Amino acid sequence: MSKSQRKRHLLLRLIIAIVIALLLAGSLFFTDRIESALGWKEDSAIPLPNAKELRVHFIDVGQADSCVIELPDDRKMIIDGGDVDAAAGLIDYIDSNIFEGQDGGFDFAILTHSDADHCGSLDDVISRYPVEVFYRPNVLASYSGFDDPGKEQLNGEYSSKNTKVYKEVIDAAYKNSDSVVVTDADDDTCNVIRPEGLQQGDAGYYEINFFTPTKDSYKDWNDYSPIMILEYAGKRIVFSGDAEKENEAEFVDLAKKGQGKFSRFDENFTVDVIKLGHHGSDTSSSREYLDTLTTPDSCASLVAVISCGAGNSYGHPKPEVLARLADMGVKEDNILRTDIVGSVLISVKIENGIASVVVNDKTITTVRSRHSWKKTVIILITVDFAVIIILPELAAVPLSAKKKRRK
Ligand SMILES: [Zn+2]
Repeated sequence: MSKSQRKRHLLLRLIIAIVIALLLAGSLFFTDRIESALGWKEDSAIPLPNAKELRVHFIDVGQADSCVIELPDDRKMIIDGGDVDAAAGLIDYIDSNIFEGQDGGFDFAILTHSDADHCGSLDDVISRYPVEVFYRPNVLASYSGFDDPGKEQLNGEYSSKNTKVYKEVIDAAYKNSDSVVVTDADDDTCNVIRPEGLQQGDAGYYEINFFTPTKDSYKDWNDYSPIMILEYAGKRIVFSGDAEKENEAEFVDLAKKGQGKFSRFDENFTVDVIKLGHHGSDTSSSREYLDTLTTPDSCASLVAVISCGAGNSYGHPKPEVLARLADMGVKEDNILRTDIVGSVLISVKIENGIASVVVNDKTITTVRSRHSWKKTVIILITVDFAVIIILPELAAVPLSAKKKRRK
């Protein structure tokens, strides 16, 4: 073959390789459909038995926090109760959406920490709707000589908080609950909540696991907040109150060690919904924390909820946090801010044996895949160029020429 013929052949092969590479790259626009067709989607797993839906209400209480969870076994949980000015609106929401005008009570109330924007109206709520088990932080209520009824229950070297609002909620907790426990992820008597009489795999089985706090005291009041994951029908929702750097780092560290219940946090572990810590402050939601709870693939369907007030003076949510989410591939439509959309209702529904996450009546399609079409395309393009350009080039050099060169 003459030199000019070889050049022409090389050019032709280069064009063919580029066309194939472009076709492969174009297929990335259909990643979703291709992964479904190849059966790589996790949702094509074994059908689930029918069971009731799980409903999580992230209630708009302005620059504060309150969630109510309706569990599939009809038990009810409240996490935090807004600020002192939220009582009327919060009770009205609970009256009309949870108990529908009937008498009732909460099976669980969780006060994540002692700040006013979380405990402010919880005393009013539990005075109206009494509680079976109340979870309190490991912080003594010491306002104006108040004798905290739970002093003997507190662990190790606890701190004490001298505010009226915290004293009032602790006082109300002991008056309106069957039992009060101190939140402690190491305490096996209260660090997991499951339905009574059901086993894993049964219809309606769920778990709420507490992963932090594991220390008795923290520098910042916010860090007493538990990181909890609610899991139902393979879907996971994370709550973390106002947990900040210290608590998140503790969680990431334990997840890396992978001992005991932390063994679930392998590289494939993902959650479906994250309630962002501390109203979307940049002192929470560190990249390491978010990476522990997601995979690069899962971020496209991840739902992030931010509880914050319109025009709040803290600038929550912080642009840095929103940029972090965008960088991870979280879709703007899947970031739900209570200052913009008001209260948010997230349900986990099981239809035809498939569980799905529904946000304000809109189903979120899971993009969690066992294998990645994107990675496959990169490998195929590399192989394409190798087979069409490089291999024939190597083969085209005669053996005698190679020998000659060596001389
Ligand atoms: Zn807060």
